[in-house]
Amino acid sequence: MNKPNIVVLGAGYGGIMTTIKLEKILGDNDANVTLVNKHDYHYQTTWLHENAAGTLHHDRTRIPIKDVVNFNKINFVQDTVKSIEPSNKKVILEDGELTYDYLVIGLGFESATFGIEGLKEHAFSIYSINSARLIREHIEYNFARYTTEPGDRRDLLTIVVGGAGFTGIEFIAEIANRVPELCQEYDIDPEKVRVMNVEAGPAALAGFDEELVEYAMNRLEEKGVEFRLGTMIKQCNENGILVEKDGEQETIDSQNVIWAAGVTGNSIVEESGFEVSRGRVPVREDLRTPDHDNVFVVGDCAVLFNPETERPYPPTAQIAMQMADTAAHNLKQLVTNSSELETFKPNLQGTVASLGHTDAIGVVFDGKKLYGRSASIMKKVIDNRYLLKLGGIGLMLKKGKLDMFR
Ligand SMILES: Cc1cc2nc3c(=O)[nH]c(=O)nc-3n(C[C@H](O)[C@H](O)[C@H](O)COP(=O)(O)OP(=O)(O)OC[C@H]3O[C@@H](n4cnc5c(N)ncnc54)[C@H](O)[C@@H]3O)c2cc1C
Repeated sequence: MNKPNIVVLGAGYGGIMTTIKLEKILGDNDANVTLVNKHDYHYQTTWLHENAAGTLHHDRTRIPIKDVVNFNKINFVQDTVKSIEPSNKKVILEDGELTYDYLVIGLGFESATFGIEGLKEHAFSIYSINSARLIREHIEYNFARYTTEPGDRRDLLTIVVGGAGFTGIEFIAEIANRVPELCQEYDIDPEKVRVMNVEAGPAALAGFDEELVEYAMNRLEEKGVEFRLGTMIKQCNENGILVEKDGEQETIDSQNVIWAAGVTGNSIVEESGFEVSRGRVPVREDLRTPDHDNVFVVGDCAVLFNPETERPYPPTAQIAMQMADTAAHNLKQLVTNSSELETFKPNLQGTVASLGHTDAIGVVFDGKKLYGRSASIMKKVIDNRYLLKLGGIGLMLKKGKLDMFR
């Protein structure tokens, strides 16, 4: 009997959890499942800001796919997806191609620079293990250069983060915590280091509880972070950035510009001809694309609107994993010719933003606010619970954040 081929693209939160669920729920004769990913590891994207700041080694963040996926049941192909041809049911890879009967797209996000001149060329962004490692090493290199370069090159010691959303705040908190260690390591007077956040909107962490935002900003300012709110980055070049506030322009010299102000779905999806809205596929309630009954999209490549607020659900790991459950269930229905497909209903369990070490802010369950150590413990509980779900107790003990009560 010819079994249908299910191909899952991307081993991020959405793709790997879809694969693991399919591994559990499909019978031996239901389908062949193939997982395609650029690397032979999965990574916890939600920890990348720590890798980029150098407060957590990237080996803690990456997890070999073979440790969590059963290769006797799932075909794993390590390759890079170049494009998708939905009309031919084909995926073009760097080193070959695959045909599918059913496809799951979980290729994640890309940085969105909104056409700001020079950002793509001169700023860094946090989107993978490789990009995070590059930022860490670049900052360390510039600190090392400072003591050997002629003149007082403060631009080498100025770290600018564009965007005060979750990623921007979590990264700047980590880097602010790391500065004392960097100064000691590279013989630098801490007074000479500048850590600055530039945000175009009037507030940090837009839409988040105001009391918690104030707490976060106070804590970060105490650690030396300089906030420039209501300030647009107009240009980035090899010397730094040009900003504008109330019509006044200013140049800020920095060799360390990290752009963390926007993400969009992986451009492969739009380039392959799928309908997109701001780079993401507006999926149907069962997570299939508007035009293809055999293509599901999970995670940051998909967009769904909250009927209560009429705003899109935020692109988060939490939602990507919940989408994976629905996509896997619906694939099982399709390959076994079973009844109706399930509708995706997100179960929003709150949001916690880390401020580094043992500090964080969050709103959980029925709007309960947390800050400081209790929020930080909650963040680590969420991270550990994910590892437990992904690879059981062994993975949680190996990679988890078990220092939460210390
Ligand atoms: C620093 C940071 C902190 C965050 N913190 C939180 C948080 O606290 N809570 C939360 O819920 N969300 C958080 N997010 C958002 C969350 O990480 C994303 O929403 C989530 O990773 C999306 O999952 P995904 O499966 O769509 O994609 P990803 O997790 O990005 O995975 C995509 C996968 O596809 C692979 N891939 C990409 N392109 C190709 C290609 N061409 N060929 C083959 N493989 C490819 C990648 O290697 C990767 O394995 C954070 C994001 C960042 C950057």
